[in-house]
Amino acid sequence: MRYVIVGGVAGGATAAARLRRIDEKAEIILFEKGQNISYANCGLPYYIGGVIKERENLFVQTPEKFGRLLNLDVRVQSEVLSIDRSDKQIRVREANGREYSEHYDKLLLSPGALPFVPPLPGVDSPGVFTLRNVEDTDAIKSYLDTHKVKRAIVVGGGFIGLEMAENLHARGIAVNVIEMAPQVMAPVDFSMATIVHAHLQEKGIGLYLGKAVKSIEKRGEVLTASLDSGEKIEAELILLSIGVRPNTKLAADAQLAIGPARGIQVNEYLQTSDPDIYAIGDAIEYPHPLTGKPWTNFLAGPANRQGRIVADNMHGQTLRSYEGAIGTAIAKIFDLTVAATGLPAKALKREGLPYESVTVQPNSHAGYYPNAYPLTLKITFHPESGMLYGAQCVGIEGVDKRIDSIAQIIKRKGGIADLMQTEQAYAPPFSSAKDPVALAGYVAD
Ligand code: FAD
Repeated sequence: MRYVIVGGVAGGATAAARLRRIDEKAEIILFEKGQNISYANCGLPYYIGGVIKERENLFVQTPEKFGRLLNLDVRVQSEVLSIDRSDKQIRVREANGREYSEHYDKLLLSPGALPFVPPLPGVDSPGVFTLRNVEDTDAIKSYLDTHKVKRAIVVGGGFIGLEMAENLHARGIAVNVIEMAPQVMAPVDFSMATIVHAHLQEKGIGLYLGKAVKSIEKRGEVLTASLDSGEKIEAELILLSIGVRPNTKLAADAQLAIGPARGIQVNEYLQTSDPDIYAIGDAIEYPHPLTGKPWTNFLAGPANRQGRIVADNMHGQTLRSYEGAIGTAIAKIFDLTVAATGLPAKALKREGLPYESVTVQPNSHAGYYPNAYPLTLKITFHPESGMLYGAQCVGIEGVDKRIDSIAQIIKRKGGIADLMQTEQAYAPPFSSAKDPVALAGYVAD
């Protein structure tokens, strides 16, 4: 059996490793357009900011070591150009321009997502960047190292945008964040985002909310972003972090079904509309476990999990269905941690689903023990059944464990009664006997 995988980072590399573990004899070829495989996308902002000091620490595996260790044929700088489904062939182009075809028995697409770049005047000026991979990271870092960048603009106040704002600030750069929506961090409600707004401003980050960049102009070293409000902001570097789109070109060109959320459509076995082609990761859409509606989810955990499941399904001995992810996500924004899972109130409103919400603001651990900080936890739930829809949490410490435990309850279709039954380890430095998760349940009850 010959397995061919397109994309060698989160989903693709995981699937390759799992395939080898379950099938010792299979031929496995991994194609990656870039120079690297299996690297830490999520660590890229921290390398730019200098928190991660060594570049090689970004690489979980090198192509050579990964290939040798698992007996895989790893081909980097090899872009898959097209799929010929009738002959089960793919067309590949190497960095040197050489093209060739390769046969597959089963094909896996894990090509990730592409950063959205709006068609604005001046958007392709030198000094304007997006951040998606190691090549982008090297370009940004080298620009910072070779230019006098004193001011930066981050366009887009999502997770990556704000992580970058923090890391540019850590390099002594004055940062302005421009966000079209009235709030940063789209997965949380406005009331929660206001805590983040105040914290960003406290740290000296300029915030332009509800404003959009209309054009960029470069004169000498200075880039000027003109906003729809008429304001003009100057910087020496601009990072566009406006969001990503599923990378569906290969799939669409091969006439595989693309869904309404613009991702590659897959069934519960992560199989596309062609039974010999599977797809995972940022490129796919699937029904949201709570709404049933198609959605895309650009997170590393789901891509890795899907990689494992899809390998089993491609091998075929054990079929495993993918239950879907509810978008459990977290970010460090300076001293704050911001995390969310499931559906916030604004999404429920949009969906027309009846809901209630409760917000509690207890301490992160027992108030009598030093360094307890307020933690804000908001839950959304069905007004009659009490079924949980989502949770958002902002605070200095202990945010991650609260969101993670609520995410497990939501994934099991649990409700506010389950919040009250949650059992958590407690001692004064870590929590309170009445943990914030239980407290949210008591208030909602
Ligand atoms: P990727 O890991 O992006 O891999 C896709 C690969 O396919 C790419 O290397 C690409 O070059 C290759 N490829 C595409 N087309 C072709 C082709 N035609 N031929 C050959 N190769 C091709 N998620 C979190 O959960 N937490 C975080 O903290 C977090 N931080 C992030 C920070 C940054 C800066 C970025 C960019 C992403 C972050 N993510 C985070 C998102 C996470 O990295 C992705 O969700 C995950 O990597 C998706 O895995 P994937 O396999 O679908 O795609």
